[in-house]
Amino acid sequence: METNTSQISKNFFGTSEQSLKEIFAEWKVETYRIHQVFTWVYHYNCRDFNEMTNLSKALRALLAENFYFSLPKIISRTHSQDGSIKYLLEMDDGAEVECVWMPSDTRKTLCISTQVGCRLNCSFCLTASLGLKRNLTTAEIIGQHLAINAELQESEQISNVVFMGMGEPLDNYDSVVEALRLMISPQAMKISTRKVTVSTSGLVDRMKNFQNENLSINLAISLNASDNATRDRLMPINKKYPIEVLIDCLKKYPLKPQRRHTIEYVLLAGINDSDDDAQRLAKWLRGVPCKINLIPFNSFDSSEYKPPSKERVLKFQNYLIEQHYSAFVRYNRATDILGACGQLAAQSAMSAPS
Ligand code: SAH
Repeated sequence: METNTSQISKNFFGTSEQSLKEIFAEWKVETYRIHQVFTWVYHYNCRDFNEMTNLSKALRALLAENFYFSLPKIISRTHSQDGSIKYLLEMDDGAEVECVWMPSDTRKTLCISTQVGCRLNCSFCLTASLGLKRNLTTAEIIGQHLAINAELQESEQISNVVFMGMGEPLDNYDSVVEALRLMISPQAMKISTRKVTVSTSGLVDRMKNFQNENLSINLAISLNASDNATRDRLMPINKKYPIEVLIDCLKKYPLKPQRRHTIEYVLLAGINDSDDDAQRLAKWLRGVPCKINLIPFNSFDSSEYKPPSKERVLKFQNYLIEQHYSAFVRYNRATDILGACGQLAAQSAMSAPS
């Protein structure tokens, strides 16, 4: 009922306003009609062009011939004791990615994926073990939000989105930028730019392009080490974009007033959690408008790393606070259901018959 996958037709989800403008111009249909279609699709959740009664029958028929609606399929839901739900989603070609919905009193945050697997090979990350299978399309990126919201009750609807699931968002640049445009467009998903965060391992060249897209969403940077030798080992991308290059980019990155970057720092016992690390981190971040999220490592069976003790985590945090940083400890959500990046999909891939 939802799909009509003839060869020429295209998934309406993920089709950008710009490409619709070109298509509508070719059809000699007024541009404002795009907003009418968007309103039906994104505000009224209409999935049938025939129901769009303020459009002419001819336009409805043209749209139906050229577009179909397809969303990722939810294939499993795992409930955590902390209220989070981890979803495993299947794409049209059978590829699987995961999302985590995390409720709190003030917000409902969805952590979404941008790639099937990842090619950055960070040594503490389970997604790395999958390698990169493929990029997700714009439709598949926003489709995670749309598919999950469709089954959540009114009071549970997603308010915030973090691009912190599987993959490196800036390694799938074009699809991610188009997805962001649709998410923040008042005509489409109308999510406030303050409520969208893209997390990156620090692809500096892409960050420089990204700042020119004028999206004004929040950026989180996974720093994870206080010296280049350690960061090289944890995140091989550091050999291309070492800490000083990344920090320099952040210092120059244009930010709207009252906004700051988020620095993510995964704490690994005995690797990057010493007093010296805290001091070096504080030094690097002088002059960078930021808050710091400390994330105790979420361990998994095949990992050589361990999370630090609670005392160590607090000491690390306190030092940063003494140095006048806003530093928070982000205890991982959903750890009882393998909440860390890539864990559910990696587990599913490992147990799947090859
Ligand atoms: N590639 C992007 C986004 C995906 S990872 C990035 O690197 O930012 C999202 C966050 O999860 C990153 O900060 C990463 O360092 C962290 N992370 C990955 N595996 C983890 C684990 N096992 N425990 C805790 N944090 C983890």
